[in-house]
Amino acid sequence: MNDSSAKIANIRVTPASIPVHAPLRYSTGVDTAIHRLVIEVETEDGLIGLGECNAGGSREACLKELIPLVVGADPFNTERLRWQVGHPVEAKLFGSVNHAFAAIEMACMDIQGKIIGRPICDLLGGQIRKNVPLAAYLFYRYSNELKTGEISDAKDMSAYAIEEVNLHGFETLKLKAGVLHPDEELETIRELRDKFPKAKIRVDPNGAWSVGTAISFAMKMRELDLEYLEDPVWGLRGMARVNSKCPWLPLASNMAVATPDDFASAIELKAVDVILVDLHFYGGLRQACHAAATLETFQVDVSMHSQGELGISMAAQLHLASVIPNLTHAADAHYHHLVDDIIEGGPLSFKDGAMAVPTKPGLGVSIDQDKLKDFSQLARKYRDAKETSITGDPLLSQHVPLLPRW
Ligand SMILES: [Mg+2]
Repeated sequence: MNDSSAKIANIRVTPASIPVHAPLRYSTGVDTAIHRLVIEVETEDGLIGLGECNAGGSREACLKELIPLVVGADPFNTERLRWQVGHPVEAKLFGSVNHAFAAIEMACMDIQGKIIGRPICDLLGGQIRKNVPLAAYLFYRYSNELKTGEISDAKDMSAYAIEEVNLHGFETLKLKAGVLHPDEELETIRELRDKFPKAKIRVDPNGAWSVGTAISFAMKMRELDLEYLEDPVWGLRGMARVNSKCPWLPLASNMAVATPDDFASAIELKAVDVILVDLHFYGGLRQACHAAATLETFQVDVSMHSQGELGISMAAQLHLASVIPNLTHAADAHYHHLVDDIIEGGPLSFKDGAMAVPTKPGLGVSIDQDKLKDFSQLARKYRDAKETSITGDPLLSQHVPLLPRW
């Protein structure tokens, strides 16, 4: 096929929300569902490329604003498109651009792969690994509508972790902390270490601790042999102070270090040992690859962030994870919390704590249009109820999500 004839003719943007098994708690809120925008980029020849990014009115408006600029473009020309619609200056001043462009680039690369008959990982330099190890993402949870699924203490959490490890074979556990008092969370970490003496355990309080609290708890956790402590405090200076006092415990970040713009300061300040790359925050698959290469130069470990993805972004993350040589930590994924997915053939499956990278051309996944319709209707319901990922925790009546909390 002559790829020079490929031209983008149309883009559809569809919000989709998929509930989780039980509401997930984190330091500044609670998620009852994963809210995403699904995009379908269609070429003049009728090829469809899929993309996905975080939902929200600002990102949806941003995507729709970009459509006239993208229509008519060659889907192979993603670097020109980036400078046209995802310009680094625009991205710095208006963060939604990065998310919107990430979805557009993902769809363009899906089209590229379909045209040349190769999976996206081959367009990114080729696979280093066929299976991507993932971490069990362990959240304290409220009960669901069936009054089940609550996780409120160490015993609940270890029972849930045992279930998930038995089900999916995870070898890495990630505790989403910053929800209960640090003393209670320390008990949970001790319980997990007791039940899983060989597992890698990482803890992410999402900036809920002060520098003093973080240092104090890093000392108490010294014997628990954590893989890393992620964003215990908010901000690079705070991370640097914790890191200087607790050299035995690697510090990781996707908040203090939110985009590659933060890399230089983080490295100069010796603020972190591990950075979680994020293709959506960074403005696409290629930017995430460049970021991982930069971290290779500076010998900073690479892990992979998850903001909550449906099957399209999950497939993109698997392709990305398969080509990053220095991805030395299991990738994060909310995916095992979803009750369903919008992709044909049902949700992607775990095996031995990992997921296989899709092998078909492009992303290797396609949309189940009936499911997209159902979960799009659900997205409208959540939106009408004003229940989105930034509405905080409705069950904490006086809760203002201040950081630090302890
Ligand atoms: Mg994090």
